[in-house]
Amino acid sequence: MIFLDNVSKYYPHEKVPALDEVTLHIAPKEFVFIVGASGAGKSTLIKMLTREEKPSYGKIIVGGIDYDYMKKRHIPHIRRRLGVVFQDFKLFPNRTVYENVAFTLEIVGVPTAEIKRTVPKVLELVGLSGKENKFPHELSGGQRQRVAIARAMARQPKILIADEPTGNLDPENSIEIMRLLEEINNFGTTIIVTTHDEKVVNLLKKRVVTIRDGKIIGDQVRGGHYDLDASRTKIEKRSLGAQPPKAAPAAPVAQVAPAPAPAAPTAPIKHAAPVAAQVAAMKAAKTAKVSAAQPTVAKSALKPAKPSASGSAVLEQMRRAKAADEAKPVAKRRKFIH
Ligand code: ADP
Repeated sequence: MIFLDNVSKYYPHEKVPALDEVTLHIAPKEFVFIVGASGAGKSTLIKMLTREEKPSYGKIIVGGIDYDYMKKRHIPHIRRRLGVVFQDFKLFPNRTVYENVAFTLEIVGVPTAEIKRTVPKVLELVGLSGKENKFPHELSGGQRQRVAIARAMARQPKILIADEPTGNLDPENSIEIMRLLEEINNFGTTIIVTTHDEKVVNLLKKRVVTIRDGKIIGDQVRGGHYDLDASRTKIEKRSLGAQPPKAAPAAPVAQVAPAPAPAAPTAPIKHAAPVAAQVAAMKAAKTAKVSAAQPTVAKSALKPAKPSASGSAVLEQMRRAKAADEAKPVAKRRKFIH
């Protein structure tokens, strides 16, 4: 679960906040688009989750971990639990597809035998079986993004964040990548996608959170629609010579949802590899013992949150779940990452 409570971010020497009192709850297994024009605050929101940046005000809880209590040494652990995919893929150009994915496991000390088992399964999941020995420059943009997704998924994160994943792709590849993310979501991974690609957002009909000038101006729970004009910043509108905003913003974006809910189940997706094989691959990958190589977060990072008025119900629910979990013998406790 992800919870931002009244989060504001002022970058140094900036008077205007990049994020302005943002409150957002993302439930486990949701698929959420974060949309908005350039400069709206999407990347800053992602950086709050990955702890690349700290909020100036407000509370952030990811998977039961209250960032207020997180020590610096816990940050790599959090980043490992969050899979992140970027617009520019960030692949190693001199490593093969296999090596790019394997490396992410090597650096956390996963045994070689386990890497050999896991990498082919993850490559099968993203439809790249047979491309193991290719180098990034031998792949299409869409295939490179698949490698990046395979790499992010190799550690079986509970949350996959894709920051403008289709920014460098043509429309066809963009849709394929989104379908792949949708499929990964169907297996139970929470997916957060930032984008200003109106077409893919409107095609997938997921929850859509719209940001403008650092504020959430719309949160459509299901069948979300991206209203490009409503999401434009004041500066953009001025430079486009747009009319001043009307009293009531555009209908779809104005429908602020009272509470988020898991995305509606979607129809099976056609994909290069048979879905049954992918299901088997994902199940097998889930049983892999990658987590054994990951350090555990100290109890101090799991201290109960200090609730604010707006978020107390969610925090209370989390506190009860954590208390119940801590009452169990250590071996039976679940990890507080969702
Ligand atoms: P988006 O991802 O929607 O394009 P960003 O989160 O990158 O938006 O930026 C939001 C606002 O914060 C913009 O006005 C941007 O100029 C500003 N900003 C982003 N990063 C920094 C930074 N490191 N220092 C100062 N201002 C920044």
